[in-house]
Amino acid sequence: MAEIVLENIVKRFGNLVAVNNLNLRIEDKEFVVLLGPSGCGKTTTLRMISGLELPDEGKILLDGQDVTFKRASRRDIAFVFQLYALYPHMTVYGNMAFPLKTQGFSKEKVDEEIKMAAGLLKIDHILNKKPRELAGGDMQRVALGRALVRRPKAFLLDEPIGTLDAKFREEMRTELKKLHVDIGATTVYVTHDQVEAMSMGDKVVIMNKGDLQQIGTPSEVYHNPENLFVANFIGSPGMNFIECMPVKDEGGNVTLKMTDVNQVIELPDNLQKIIIKNNKIDHELILGIRPEDINLEFKECKNYINAEVYIIETLGSYNIIDVKLGKYTIRVRTLPTVSPDIGTGCCIGLEMNSITLFDKKTEKSIMKN
Ligand code: ATP
Repeated sequence: MAEIVLENIVKRFGNLVAVNNLNLRIEDKEFVVLLGPSGCGKTTTLRMISGLELPDEGKILLDGQDVTFKRASRRDIAFVFQLYALYPHMTVYGNMAFPLKTQGFSKEKVDEEIKMAAGLLKIDHILNKKPRELAGGDMQRVALGRALVRRPKAFLLDEPIGTLDAKFREEMRTELKKLHVDIGATTVYVTHDQVEAMSMGDKVVIMNKGDLQQIGTPSEVYHNPENLFVANFIGSPGMNFIECMPVKDEGGNVTLKMTDVNQVIELPDNLQKIIIKNNKIDHELILGIRPEDINLEFKECKNYINAEVYIIETLGSYNIIDVKLGKYTIRVRTLPTVSPDIGTGCCIGLEMNSITLFDKKTEKSIMKN
């Protein structure tokens, strides 16, 4: 069992705050992904969990025990880096046996553990090879195997498949997820690749410039982003944003007037209520909507917004059509059969249940308030 808790963790390098008051609870057996752009503090967080780096403030608890200042070697946690530092002169077997031999395991026990790990990672057939004879994917499997034989309480993986090419990465993603299901050890995984994060994590922790942005399941962070940063970072192609101003007519009906474009978006009752409850009438908002939540039509439709086809990306199983309306370019996901001429007049209809409204000033979602 391994539950990892970070309480008010702060890490500074000189004047730079690399991690700013981070609070995080990683449940036993959970697969948690730390996600964010380069320099956001992911690796530093992982290194503090492992004990390779010490926080300036806060506490780290492992199964309820304060390990903040405990040495890395005493934490019973395995760290696998992006660059698999295998010993070149040893075989795969030797590399995997090394951590066990240093811990004084018997020859039989070492053999048993290696066979278990090699079976799980499907590397039984390369146990006698040297690292230089291996492909990148296999080298990373061996590095994982070396961590696995120790049967640690938790795995910390820092961009473990970042250097592999796209095809291998996809394969390894599936394998790592399967491995986690098989061994059920708490795993903290660092990546800047949102597809990797969304496909692997039970929970995704999104960071930016040392600050926690949101913690949630992949579905929560995708469908209910708490701020513009998360909305923008998650999803490919990304969410569309439209600046607008909520206005109330004499009858009390609230609509959104699009900024710099002479068009109005009608709203259902629930969204009108959210705007009123948050006192956002006549306050600038940003409407966020994902490409798959927009309907594209080539005839007049009630409550649709007029636009013009700008560019088409053909992606096999679907198309992405960029439509222009004034200063906005809106990306719409359509069936692959939808292939209009550039410049064609069109209308777009927004799926009202899938809209997120953000306060333009605070950049925070107003949907939960
Ligand atoms: P990347 O994906 O590029 O590794 P990251 O999100 O993992 O990014 P960190 O490596 O945790 O980010 O770095 C966070 C910030 O702290 C960065 O600005 C980085 O330059 C800085 N930093 C990290 N380690 C040190 C160090 N030992 N000394 C000084 N600054 C550091």
